Formats: sequence, structure tokens, C-alpha cells
Amino acid sequence: MMEDAERKMQFLFALRSRGVTDARVLTAMEGVDRKAFVTGFFTDRAYEDMPLPIACGQTISQPSVVGLMTQALDVAPRDKVLEIGTGSGYQAAILSHLARRVYTVDRHKRLVQAAQAIFDAQGLVNITAMTADGSRGLVEQAPFDRILVTAAAEDPPGPLLAQLRVGGIMVLPVGQSDTVQALIRVTRTEAGFDYQELRAVRFVPLVEGLGQD
Ligand code: SAH
Repeated sequence: MMEDAERKMQFLFALRSRGVTDARVLTAMEGVDRKAFVTGFFTDRAYEDMPLPIACGQTISQPSVVGLMTQALDVAPRDKVLEIGTGSGYQAAILSHLARRVYTVDRHKRLVQAAQAIFDAQGLVNITAMTADGSRGLVEQAPFDRILVTAAAEDPPGPLLAQLRVGGIMVLPVGQSDTVQALIRVTRTEAGFDYQELRAVRFVPLVEGLGQD
């Protein structure tokens, strides 16, 4: 059986070969063990470049997509970042290595609690995780330098656009749920918003309101 160390090497190689080339992003991803965020049956596949199921019927995203989204977000060390869709907490942990402070919200309390336990265990003290409907953003902490949405909406939610600082960047998948979605990058300028389409992706839908658990 292959050792974890060898699998991790292959993991990083796969990221590079799929276009994750930013040195800061690769270093951050090297520093976050995906295995810690995958529970149960699928822990064995934590270093494969595929999405995996987590609790509440959600998924931990494919690592190369996490890398490409993080790269597109272009996070600077002083940035205050908002992530919508905590899920396993994996993406937030990577962002915590790149930003000053990360706010992450999920509509499922159970996912937020599980992710918070991992952040605590790993000493990731610059992450604040909350149960909330992320389609409304997090008005009490706005504006944000960067916003990353890891669930697909039909269009960029208005409150998130409003909570982006001028000069700020938001990366999100848009499109009808369960069909092909486009990953887009929105840059807020003095005059309005610039939109850039990055690639096709597939994410779980952004659902309004809080989850049952
Ligand atoms: N970033 C995660 C993967 C997220 S999967 C990771 O690294 O593991 C998408 C997540 O978005 C799910 O956990 C889902 O519960 C959450 N979600 C969907 N709609 C939401 C909403 N309106 N507000 C907050 N979270 C939402």
C-alpha cells in the first residue's frame, strides 16, 4: 500500500499539472492535510483529485478546483476574506494561510461545528466560522477584500456584490444547479463590476435559508 507521504507528493504534482502554479497557493495547500477534513469511508481517497461526500449531503470540492479558485482569488496577506459554504472547512483552512482573517459561513450547523473542531485542533485561530445563510453575506463584517463562494447560484447574489470592497475580487460558480456552471471572477471597480469567465465547474447549489441540521 502506498504511503501517505508518497500520496501527498502525487497530490501536489496533480495540482501543478492541472494549472495550480501560484507558489503561495501551492505552499498553503501543502500545509493543509486534506485527510483531516474527510471523514469515514472516504479518508483513503483524501489525496485523490476528486470531490468526496461529506455530511449533510454536501461535498468537499476537488483539490485542483480548490487550487484554481484560490489562485483566481489572488489573496494578499492583509486581506479579510469571506467564504460562503464552509462544508468540510478545507477551503477555509487554505485561505487562512494566505489571508489575515477568514470568515466562513454554512447553512448547516453540523458542518460548521465539525469544521470549527478541526480549526481548533490545528490552531487556525484566524478563521471565524458561523452558521448563517451566506446568500445574504455577512453584513456586520463587510466590506471584504475577497469573497469566495463554493456553492452555485444562478447569478452573483446582490448582497455579496454589495459587501465587496472597491478593488475587491469575488470568485464564484454561477448557473442552473446540477447542469454545467461557469466559474467567474468579479472585480469591483470605482465604476461598477468587471466579470471574467474562468472555466466550467460543477458545484452543489447555493440554497437560501438555514439547513435542518
Ligand atoms: N468549501 C467546502 C465545500 C463546500 S460544498 C469545502 O472546502 O469543503 C458547498 C457548501 O455550501 C455546503 O456545505 C452547503 O451546505 C453550503 N451552502 C449552500 N447554500 C448555502 C447558503 N445559502 N449559505 C451558506 N452555505 C450554503
